[in-house]
Amino acid sequence: MRIDVITIFPGLIEPFRTTSLLGAACRDGIVELVVHDLREFTKDRHRTVDDTPYGGGPGMVMRPEPLIEAIEALAGPKGETRKARVLLLSPQGRRLDQGWAQELAREEHLVLVCGRYEGVDQRVIEIAVDEEVSIGDYVLAGGELPALVLIEAVTRLVPGVMGNPESAEAESFQTGMLEGPQFTRPAEYRGIEVPAVLRSGDHQAIARWRAEQAHAVTKRRRPDLLGRGRGEEER
Ligand code: SAM
Repeated sequence: MRIDVITIFPGLIEPFRTTSLLGAACRDGIVELVVHDLREFTKDRHRTVDDTPYGGGPGMVMRPEPLIEAIEALAGPKGETRKARVLLLSPQGRRLDQGWAQELAREEHLVLVCGRYEGVDQRVIEIAVDEEVSIGDYVLAGGELPALVLIEAVTRLVPGVMGNPESAEAESFQTGMLEGPQFTRPAEYRGIEVPAVLRSGDHQAIARWRAEQAHAVTKRRRPDLLGRGRGEEER
């Protein structure tokens, strides 16, 4: 999978590219993450990427020309022939969830566009962006952290990135439920013992216990995932 990130702050993305699971995936050639400085796509002496909003108001808006030129240089023009999927990080976008991350993990090429200031000129969205992605109902100063959230959620699902592919299978949301409690050594800590079943070596009993726990924690914390409303749960 190739991921291109367009940003005015390449330094925010770079350390993430070389660290931990993603760092290993990039070194192993499973993921290619390329960061582009938007200012390289400007033509004026001051490398301007923003301007004041039409109609007045506070702050600055990202100009369309450098963004659209950067996107088209990396993904080609929007339309049926485009192979890459161009995603603009935006609080107004569709909320990222595990199901969408799974779908994006099957793509060969993503281009992620990070906004800053008050956001991007609407023509960027209309002319060059395929979809807008939000990481939640709150507003951050820029799209770099949202892009990193998306990159981590998606790339860990790309085959070969996680050492053990089974790791993802029982995880929260992957199964439509939350994952149950987990324990490691020591067997007893500050009076709290690891449940005996987990130490029994009985794999069927362990699988049964884990399924029951996953169901119980989901019912308690996120009944909506089980297809029931919270009101019903609270009665
Ligand atoms: N004025 C915009 C609005 O009210 O919708 C918010 C702009 S925000 C300050 C600047 C940039 O941060 C956005 O263009 C976007 O790239 C990014 N951003 C902020 N919050 C985000 C979120 N929840 N999800 C994804 N991107 C976000």
